[in-house]
Amino acid sequence: MKKISMETILGVLLFAGLGLLFTRGIQKTAGEAVTEEKQAAVTATVVIDAGHGGSDPGKIGINGAREKEVNLAIAEELKACLEEAGIQVVMTRSDAGGLYQESDENKKQADMRARCAIIDEAGAELTVSVHQNSYPAESVRGPQVFYHAQSSEGQKAAACLQEALNQELSITRPREIKANNTYYILKKTKTPVVIAECGFLSNYEEAEKLTTKDYQKQVAHALCSGILAYLEASGG
Ligand SMILES: [Zn+2]
Repeated sequence: MKKISMETILGVLLFAGLGLLFTRGIQKTAGEAVTEEKQAAVTATVVIDAGHGGSDPGKIGINGAREKEVNLAIAEELKACLEEAGIQVVMTRSDAGGLYQESDENKKQADMRARCAIIDEAGAELTVSVHQNSYPAESVRGPQVFYHAQSSEGQKAAACLQEALNQELSITRPREIKANNTYYILKKTKTPVVIAECGFLSNYEEAEKLTTKDYQKQVAHALCSGILAYLEASGG
């Protein structure tokens, strides 16, 4: 009786010990998975392309606002927002200048080629090209995101960004994402790219808002939310 009892106790202890080892093993694996997830989030790269610059002002607003300046201001706010979320950011430009040499005969072409080279080099999960729109009819307004028609990832990203812009900027008459096959930056790049037209500089109220730091921050925050939603949905 006493002997059986001892064997039982030893058996129980052995079983408990194995159980503890097994549980620790599981915990370690789960811990490793969390670490890997964090590392994946940290290593996600996004290219922010502030459209125009240098001798190319982009659209000129009804209020005189220059698109190249609005684009850069929003791009800088967006960079800060993404970096705070642990995303690695590559900027195509960080100052007022364009991406061409004074000696370049065709500055616009040189500028676009340089942007595409940076985008291809970065191999980013997503590139967001920041622009402002313009239209002859002053009443037309609101953000709109473009993607390449043959890019399903571009389309998914565009949908995430459009949704975030419409929501966070409380757009009363929301616009929809639009496919495009002619924009150079959409055609000539290897990774998913979207063009975010944040608003219309031809609409007085929107043009005025787009020149304020407060609204630029709101736009950047919305773009940031949309990008994070896309990265999360695509497992990055
Ligand atoms: Zn533009």
